[in-house]
Amino acid sequence: MSFASLTAPVSPAPLTQLSDDESLFFESIEEFARHEIAPHVREMDEHAKIPRTLVDKLFDLGVMAVEIPEEFGGAGASFFHAVLAVEALSRVDASVGVLVDVHNTLCINALLRWGSVDIKRRYLSKLAGGSLGAYALSEAGSGSDAFALTTRAVRDGDEFRLTGRKLWITNGNEADVFIVLATVDPAAGYRGITAFIVERGFQGFTVGKKEDKLGIRASSTCELLLEDCRVPVDNVLGDLGKGHKVAMETLNEGRIGIGAQMVGIAQGALDAAVAYTKERRQFGRAIADFQGVQFQLARAAVDVEAARLMVYNAARLRDAGQPFLTEAAMCKLFSSEVAEEVASLAMNLYGGYGFVKDYPVEKFFRDAKIGQIYEGTSNMQLQTIAKQLLAP
Ligand SMILES: Cc1cc2nc3c(=O)[nH]c(=O)nc-3n(C[C@H](O)[C@H](O)[C@H](O)COP(=O)(O)OP(=O)(O)OC[C@H]3O[C@@H](n4cnc5c(N)ncnc54)[C@H](O)[C@@H]3O)c2cc1C
Repeated sequence: MSFASLTAPVSPAPLTQLSDDESLFFESIEEFARHEIAPHVREMDEHAKIPRTLVDKLFDLGVMAVEIPEEFGGAGASFFHAVLAVEALSRVDASVGVLVDVHNTLCINALLRWGSVDIKRRYLSKLAGGSLGAYALSEAGSGSDAFALTTRAVRDGDEFRLTGRKLWITNGNEADVFIVLATVDPAAGYRGITAFIVERGFQGFTVGKKEDKLGIRASSTCELLLEDCRVPVDNVLGDLGKGHKVAMETLNEGRIGIGAQMVGIAQGALDAAVAYTKERRQFGRAIADFQGVQFQLARAAVDVEAARLMVYNAARLRDAGQPFLTEAAMCKLFSSEVAEEVASLAMNLYGGYGFVKDYPVEKFFRDAKIGQIYEGTSNMQLQTIAKQLLAP
């Protein structure tokens, strides 16, 4: 075999090298997060609420319509940009990170991919202009086994009537537009599942209990009650009985966003640990002078870099129209573990101060935990990866 005919390829950009406009985008969000979010993080966590004024500022900033085409009032940017926004925000507050993430990577993405021209016209400008989106798949009895959902949709003339309860819905408290998965034919199993666009004001729709959580406390997580909720036939998203595809393909993308949220948490915790260990003195020197501490920080930096590479690669694959199922599952699995480990290390390095709320690291630790649970638990990610690995 000869390699004589090989030509030097045009080198693709290094994965973590951002284009000029990606850099500018990231930096402007970081600056926004420092000035507009950081001063309120503790209060938002304690009150378990993101103020509407902050949500409005996020819309003004342009991070709530990243991929929406310009004709509907969006930035017409890439999925990768959305991922950068989630990372930059989550370095400061992972609750704001997930609010932006669910709106962009779940709700808007599903509409962009599955929405008819009419649906896009009706909903994309709404979602770009101040209405928050949510995505409602889970129920009390169906989490990992998502297609065991029981919310029922029955056709009634020009409408469907939806009856059931959704649980754990992020943005439930603030959202105006909900993508709701229900079954039009329980006997058909997953082939009966259909996606509907439900507005907060639709008759028969109410938001129920808001959960009191360990982490991402300011992000609302709510029950949704659908009691004969009337949804126009025109609000079916995708085809009848094809909701399982809407649900799964949307979540595959969403997982990359959660990966970005976890990288943001890990980076935020690492930055805090580096700053603190340079300041804190014991035995007459900064604790960062001890090689034991240096090695712990170095190990954490390696893990964050690896997690970021995986997230960016998955996002770039998605934007390039390449398969990314395995990479999305891997990046969520890995980055959520890294976030927990790095946040835990940061707490250790803060000593007693790491355990109290006057310092930021205990919150990073609490916020990191959710990464291994939502949008598919770690076991579900392992299941996806193993399935691809063992496929004939
Ligand atoms: C804060 C928060 C926000 C959320 N936001 C949303 C949202 O916006 N929209 C939405 O639809 N849902 C949302 N969820 C729901 C979330 O996606 C589910 O909680 C998650 O998918 C797990 O489902 P479950 O809680 O029913 O756990 P279960 O499915 O009951 O899992 C319990 C345990 O069993 C394991 N397990 C289950 N099946 C298997 C198996 N086959 N093999 C190996 N292990 C298995 C799991 O890995 C897990 O460790 C949210 C949840 C939380 C906590």
